Formats: sequence, C-alpha cells, structure tokens
Amino acid sequence: MPTDPPPEEFRLVVDLNRCQSYGQCVYAAPTVFRFHGEEALEYDYAPDPRTRREVERAAAACPVQAILLGGATEPAPLTSEGAQ
Ligand code: SF4
Repeated sequence: MPTDPPPEEFRLVVDLNRCQSYGQCVYAAPTVFRFHGEEALEYDYAPDPRTRREVERAAAACPVQAILLGGATEPAPLTSEGAQ
C-alpha cells in the first residue's frame, strides 16, 4: 500500500513593513502566527511542514500580501509576486 511522502520543509517570511496587524494569518494558522502584545506579530520562520496548508491559507488571506513562502534550502523571497 503506497504511503504519502513526508511533507517538505519550508520557510516563511513576513514583511513587517507591509504588515498592518490585521490578524487574518493568526486566525488561519494559529500555531504559526501569534500576536505579542497588541500589534507585534510573531511567527515561526520554519514551521512544521504539516502546517503548510494553513500557512498557504494565511498567505492568501493576508490583505497586504505580507506573507512570503520559500523552500527550506532556498532563501525566502524578498518580494511577493504581483505585490506593489
Ligand atoms: S494577515 Fe497579513 S497584515 Fe494581517 S497580521 Fe498577518 S501578516 Fe500582518
């Protein structure tokens, strides 16, 4: 019986200059994103690979496209595609 391959590791960067603390990512992936204090966003830059779907949902939900994903061995992108 075939088994699924293990999920690939990935890296995550939030452009905190762009982030407006809307909190959509915290709702979408609460094990990865959290607020420290009222507005300071904290996140795991190398989250559990099993959270990838949640993190992708968080990135899609971010109103200012501040969440950028990259592979574990490549540098995280500094800008997101289509962002201004
Ligand atoms: S959803 Fe985007 S703007 Fe909102 S807190 Fe998360 S990264 Fe910041």
